[in-house]
Amino acid sequence: CGIVGIIGTRSVAPLLVDALKRLEYRGYDSAGVATLEDGHLDRRRAEGKLSNLEAKLSDSPLGGHIGIGHTRWATHGVPNETNAHPHFSTPVAIVHNGIIENFAELRQELKANGYEFATQTDTEVVAHLVSSLTKAGREPVAAAQEAISRLRGAFAIAMLFEGEDDLIIGARNGPPLAIGHGEDEMYLGSDAIALSPFTDSITYLEDGDFAVIRSGGVDIFDAQGQKVARQAQKSSTGA
Ligand code: GLU
Repeated sequence: CGIVGIIGTRSVAPLLVDALKRLEYRGYDSAGVATLEDGHLDRRRAEGKLSNLEAKLSDSPLGGHIGIGHTRWATHGVPNETNAHPHFSTPVAIVHNGIIENFAELRQELKANGYEFATQTDTEVVAHLVSSLTKAGREPVAAAQEAISRLRGAFAIAMLFEGEDDLIIGARNGPPLAIGHGEDEMYLGSDAIALSPFTDSITYLEDGDFAVIRSGGVDIFDAQGQKVARQAQKSSTGA
């Protein structure tokens, strides 16, 4: 139900949780964060309130200067820790808002290719699809773009890749997604309010947009794959 992402210059797990708190108003039943620590993906997830996730993080902290986070409002699969995002399929971690309408046919195809499903979510197909494309030789950005082009439905998605400590992918087709520009840091969020502690300089993605976010800035491509210029705006909610 809510998405956040940060490419930072400091430890991001606590910042991701702070940003998720600003999305609590949307409602959620579970939450999770994933970061890259020394190039390796790790995650913490919890059913229920964000305080449950914070308790896990305090027992078992997550380092790393790049990460994504999610509050889930379950549509496919019960609200439990297994179904909580981020979902992993080497080398990718994914958070998703909305519904993948063609998940059943994609699941069948991926199962036929040997992928085993650990969750009941529609989201997990996206992770395995990106994974299968990287195994077929695509670079992370190309794999993400090709996977997104195969999805039907309404979604906002963020992706983080193993070994890629300066890359977050964002894609929007329905639910809103905003990119925040900081000093040496970049942010992604379901809305500007989530990013308000960090920046008031916001670029809103449009439907069909695919964003390649790195610490130095963002490249945005439209549904036809053409690079587009989208103006950053000053958000009134901003820092
Ligand atoms: N359809 C996804 C799920 O049930 C995402 C739900 C959401 O928007 O939080 O896991």
